Amino acid sequence: MHSPAIPQLTESDPQLAELIEAEARRQFEKVRLIASENYVSTAVLEAAGTVLTNKYAEGYAGKRYYEGQQFIDPIERMAIERAKALFGVEHANVQPYSGSPANLAIYLAFMQPGDTFLSLELAHGGHLTHGSPVSATGKWFRPVHYGVSKETGRIDMDSVRDVARAERPKMIFCGGTAIPRTIDFPAFAEIAREVGALLVADVAHIAGLIAGGAHPSPVGYAEVISTTTHKTLRGPRGAMLMSTAEHAVALDKAVFPGLQGGPHNHTTAAIAVALKEAATPEFAAYAHAVVRNADALARALVELGFDVVSGGTDNHLVLLDLTGQGIGGKPAAKALDRAGIELNFNTVPFDPRKPWDPSGVRLGTAAVTTRGLGVAEMPRIAGWMERAIRAAQREDEAALERVAAEVRELMVGYPMPGWAPTP
Ligand SMILES: *Cc1c(COP(=O)(O)O)cnc(C)c1O
Repeated sequence: MHSPAIPQLTESDPQLAELIEAEARRQFEKVRLIASENYVSTAVLEAAGTVLTNKYAEGYAGKRYYEGQQFIDPIERMAIERAKALFGVEHANVQPYSGSPANLAIYLAFMQPGDTFLSLELAHGGHLTHGSPVSATGKWFRPVHYGVSKETGRIDMDSVRDVARAERPKMIFCGGTAIPRTIDFPAFAEIAREVGALLVADVAHIAGLIAGGAHPSPVGYAEVISTTTHKTLRGPRGAMLMSTAEHAVALDKAVFPGLQGGPHNHTTAAIAVALKEAATPEFAAYAHAVVRNADALARALVELGFDVVSGGTDNHLVLLDLTGQGIGGKPAAKALDRAGIELNFNTVPFDPRKPWDPSGVRLGTAAVTTRGLGVAEMPRIAGWMERAIRAAQREDEAALERVAAEVRELMVGYPMPGWAPTP
């Protein structure tokens, strides 16, 4: 049963309610290893499901374009103050609808069409909004890229410096979607200073680890910080932009009226709830447990003979290169899903295959750690992955189903917020 309960919805739209119920059960029964996903708390779900969705609030607290902001203003201010306190920043904007529009606001604030910026190659773990040719950011601006070293699988700071010196970018992005190692913010800051570029840290994946003290903070190094709120930070789907006081006005103007209309107040409230949760000692313990679990999972996979990009992980994320396993990332991910283990196919650095049929899979431990799984369970997950991949190669559907049954048996012992099986 969903919690908060959805009796009205079940009554008025049973078809939809049934699909929500089925999705909740799926989340309950699977080992969810998609590195960008999590389970939000019931309090976050409650805030996101409130009447705050009824209100328009274009503008910022104290300067709105609609009346009736007596309670929306303090809610948004609360979210902002909590973000500033949690991350130790001078300015926060909690209005971006999601990570991608948050990043677009950064371009709008600091770049002119055609300007050059530097970011991590998409195929090496960057994000679409860091200048992919299919993204507006790649069509309207001029991206140049750094990559990871072929030998170490880690970001090659020499390549960052070399490209930065040669291209003199206006902006440098650090951060990405498939970086298993600690981001060296001081080294990026030094290069940005040398070439006169603005340093932007996109910490969408690792914001929760930073908040919990399990990854170094970009504050004091990156002038502008972009993050989603729904990955390791464990809030609702949304985003925040943070910066030094110097860039506050430019960022705020870029978000509204530059790109967006009214903020999603129910999301703002849920972000405020998540930020309060993230400031607790329990959350710091969670963040460290996420990293310990990822490390244990990576080690178990290495022991089973898997090729882990960069040899391991420092954060919540593990990137597997299946080149030597005789199976592509996509068929592996699909078979694993049937075996109750949910992850995504992913390119690996220097991937010989195409992005829609790449050689790797990406795993993360943010969600399973929220469920309460610990280092003792990680070798079991690795073992299931091995069995499922072998089964996929033999096209042995029965073996995949046996793994799925074992996965379900484990996961039903770990409650999830938001849903429980009806007794
Ligand atoms: C997830 C992510 C984004 C985009 O977030 P959406 O909410 O999916 O738009 C941007 N940058 C990085 C590094 C991300 O991991």
